[in-house]
Amino acid sequence: MIEINQVSHHFTLGKKGQQSHLDVLKDISFHVSEGEIVSIIGRSGSGKSTLLNLISGFIRPSEGEIIILDEKVSEFTEEEFADFRLKNMGFIFQSFQLIPSMTAYENVELPLILKGMSEQARKQMTLEMLKTVGLESFKDHYPSELSGGQQQRVSIARALILEPPLILADEPTGSLDSETEADLLAFIKKLNKERGITFVIITHDDEVAKIGHRTIEIADGELIRSGVFV
Ligand code: ADP
Ligand code: MG
Repeated sequence: MIEINQVSHHFTLGKKGQQSHLDVLKDISFHVSEGEIVSIIGRSGSGKSTLLNLISGFIRPSEGEIIILDEKVSEFTEEEFADFRLKNMGFIFQSFQLIPSMTAYENVELPLILKGMSEQARKQMTLEMLKTVGLESFKDHYPSELSGGQQQRVSIARALILEPPLILADEPTGSLDSETEADLLAFIKKLNKERGITFVIITHDDEVAKIGHRTIEIADGELIRSGVFV
């Protein structure tokens, strides 16, 4: 499903004339098969989020190529990637990234509006998805009126509503208590098993990494281990 071939990335820092390069990822290669859960671990600052941003197309690699679902996405334009993302990817972030001025219902419905679906179809799908994550009775609550765990479930519902084959998660349990974390991990496993959704999950927590069928460890921008070791 995902093929990362000799990918390197640097950021350019400083003003024009006195710029420096920060090498963040160095010659990374790995693949993720359909239906797999792959965890990516490593210390803070090792380059994990940058790697996920490359897969998500929010940035393009300085070198190397990224192929997702047989498409060479590392050569996509912004517009092509936006379209590809909407069709194929869902995102779960540590900070939820919900829109504060929209209710739970409106946040979950948003991808359907972007896709141009009719109001009737949107309503049915949105209510069903809110039910799946157990938030039916909270549909009219704003993010500020929900607990951290509930907000995370709204963000998951939004990530899932278009049934993407691939879900990318950056520290998804980072702001959850341990009980809510356990619930979320069980839910991810269930989605993987029942719907065959592929997950790439970044974490610095070994307990979270354990739900992966495989783990990849990044240190100082290099892939140092891959396999079953957590
Ligand atoms: P991790 O997610 O593993 O904590 P990141 O990928 O966020 O690591 O960051 C890796 C390194 O790249 C850090 O040194 C960070 O400061 C730097 N970095 C990340 N994003 C940018 C950016 N947009 N511009 C410049 N440097 C960045
Ligand atoms: Mg990070």
